[in-house]
Amino acid sequence: MRKKSNFGSMMATAIFLAIIGGVIYLYNSVMFERDKPNIVIENSGFWNLRAPLKIKIDDASGLTAYKVTLKSGEESFVLADELFVSPAGSQTLELKTPKRAYALKNSEVTVSVEATDASKWNFMAGNSASKKVTLQVDKKRPYISTIASSYRIIKGGSAVVVFKAEDNNMEEFYVETNFGKRFKAQPFYKEGYYVTLIAWPVTEDTFRATIIAKDSAGNVAKSSVPVIPYNKRYRTSHIKLSDHFLNGKVSELAYAYGVDDNADIIERFKFVNEEMRHNNEEVIHEITSKVSDKMINNLPIKKMYPLKNGQVVAQFGDHRIYSYKGEEVSEAYHLGLDLASNAMSPIKTQNPAVVAFAEENGIYGNMPVLYHGLGLYTIYGHCSTLMVKEGDTIRSKETIAKTGRSGYAMGDHLHFGVLVQGIEVRPQEWMDQDWIRKSITDPMREARKLINQR
Ligand SMILES: [Zn+2]
Repeated sequence: MRKKSNFGSMMATAIFLAIIGGVIYLYNSVMFERDKPNIVIENSGFWNLRAPLKIKIDDASGLTAYKVTLKSGEESFVLADELFVSPAGSQTLELKTPKRAYALKNSEVTVSVEATDASKWNFMAGNSASKKVTLQVDKKRPYISTIASSYRIIKGGSAVVVFKAEDNNMEEFYVETNFGKRFKAQPFYKEGYYVTLIAWPVTEDTFRATIIAKDSAGNVAKSSVPVIPYNKRYRTSHIKLSDHFLNGKVSELAYAYGVDDNADIIERFKFVNEEMRHNNEEVIHEITSKVSDKMINNLPIKKMYPLKNGQVVAQFGDHRIYSYKGEEVSEAYHLGLDLASNAMSPIKTQNPAVVAFAEENGIYGNMPVLYHGLGLYTIYGHCSTLMVKEGDTIRSKETIAKTGRSGYAMGDHLHFGVLVQGIEVRPQEWMDQDWIRKSITDPMREARKLINQR
């Protein structure tokens, strides 16, 4: 008997512990979680009543219901009211208002969100949360207009645009092209005015630029830049690869930069001409994409003339198609101007600059990059000696490096490149004082005059 009663109490204890354990388990399980849904209303501060309301609702156990209401004075609109038979996970909502809400006259609206999760907590009712935000109604689009710009832009070339951009709640503005490049503008002359250089890459067939401004209420304004595109033809060169060439510098570079040991002669060439070129150009594009926020009045640029008595040995924009034993194997665009003089000639800049980079860069060899302001950069490839370092301030006429044949270069020459916010442009334009005056300096002067008259 005693044994049995002992056994009974042991059983009772075990059952009791199991129940406690079960309760603790359930108490801590997702099924019975006690956290309310997390509601985030991404629109903040201002709203134009038309842009979608972006709302995120998250919960560990999933959601069983949510409701979004818009209130303004006496009027109220239900934007969403959802009930799930089975719980859904996190929700990202982009809600549009009904058209009749566009006409609301009040200067404020309130957005309320209620949500319930799938937890069995609260006697199966789940955890509920609500959130309310008041948004100021702003239906006015940003004001933008071009003040002055270059008359035309040549394929592969540069241009400038000065514009006004104004809004009480401005969020961002930029000049965007038909090929998706966004040029960042720099404050110009007086408050509310901006300037940017724009560029037409030699690899793009058409050019269109649009100033785009967005405010934090969701209003967007667009205005096209009245610059006339001029489609210049560039040369396509067919280059036959010789074994001598492929076994020389190409293989030297390929091995130095870690091409696959088993790579054949053409794979080595493709490694240098495609993979290395791509990586090295990425480095250049990143360095040359930066623009300052400082207000400027002009861009005092003198014609560029990096190499005394430099003969042009390769043009900007050449489309090079390479073939080997009668078969096309690779291609590339030459995105600078090649100039040659005596070996190890001094390279001088005619313009003050800050050194943005001065290191070895793969096929470009030893390569200084200079920043001249307004997103305008120059690069100098294949140098033998670098005489500047990153961060240096350079005066005009200063020697920055000596020509050489470092990187992917057969003979001693300078690969001179000009970039506008990360896009390679025709150096010839920036080597022509007349072009600089007509296309860059004059439009900026015209803009200052027009701004003064306002
Ligand atoms: Zn070159």
